[in-house]
Amino acid sequence: MNNVLAIDIGGTNSRVGLFDEQGRRLMITESETRRDGGREWMQEHLVKQCGDLLAKSDYPVKACGISFGGPVDFQRQTVTSVHVPGWKDFALAEWGQNAFHLPCQVENDANAGALGEGQFGAGRGTNSLFYFTLSTGIGGGYVADGRIVRGRDGVAGEVGHIPVSDSGAPCSCGARGCLEVFCSGTAIAERGREWGRRRPEGVARMIELSAGQVEEITAKTVALAAAEGDPTAVTIMKEVGRWLARGVLTIVRIVNPDRVVLGGGVSQAGVVLLNPVREALQEFESPTIKYSTEIVLAELGTLSPLYGAAAVALKLSGN
Ligand SMILES: [Zn+2]
Repeated sequence: MNNVLAIDIGGTNSRVGLFDEQGRRLMITESETRRDGGREWMQEHLVKQCGDLLAKSDYPVKACGISFGGPVDFQRQTVTSVHVPGWKDFALAEWGQNAFHLPCQVENDANAGALGEGQFGAGRGTNSLFYFTLSTGIGGGYVADGRIVRGRDGVAGEVGHIPVSDSGAPCSCGARGCLEVFCSGTAIAERGREWGRRRPEGVARMIELSAGQVEEITAKTVALAAAEGDPTAVTIMKEVGRWLARGVLTIVRIVNPDRVVLGGGVSQAGVVLLNPVREALQEFESPTIKYSTEIVLAELGTLSPLYGAAAVALKLSGN
């Protein structure tokens, strides 16, 4: 028996885990990312957290997979963070190899999420799946026959940056009119706040759930209010679902995967998000171009990228 080490570095939370040969989780530690600590804080933190797990492992640990929440140059195994200082072109896999004395490989969090759900979650048993990570922004990963489709420049699957409108706020990528601007977690929160500024009486429940402050409304509080049936929150989630459905249908039209998996923090909203997406897809239906791609929620929740990192490590270790 052997085990593997998995690491998920995110802008809000980071997780480390020990997994067995079958990809079963043995131990997981989760902590908040201290953004102001930059890269150095994260490195020290990981050395400690992973050191604890390695010390507790009953079997030899053979490899390490890392999911990184930011652009990853897979060929060079370097990462860059747009939110946290110190990560520009950082050779993360090489650092991991030296820090943990293990073979190490890095994937971006969307690809890792796709691998995690594909092997251990909602994509089990499929030949192809497209994974959406819905959080602050929107990312995507496409797995076909067990392999990530990367494309010529390694940017295949960047579904959040499909242009869907001539208008809209500037996107985090520097372009305009991207899908992400209309249905990311940031967009959901912003819609809630906009309603709150214009008609606070119409969003009383959302404000109540957000510490009484319009500016504290988040995607989570909008989703919670929608789950309770709050009419304004339901309207927001319907609009968001409709935009997201356009992205999903674009993917279905291009690669027609077995399954589309909706993951990331925003997908924790559950049916409040999934139902509007499915309803909009029915509305967009073509009587002639039929498809049987299933649209489902991620099964591993916020742990999809960590499981994906474990999948990467298992492959590295020859499993
Ligand atoms: Zn964009």
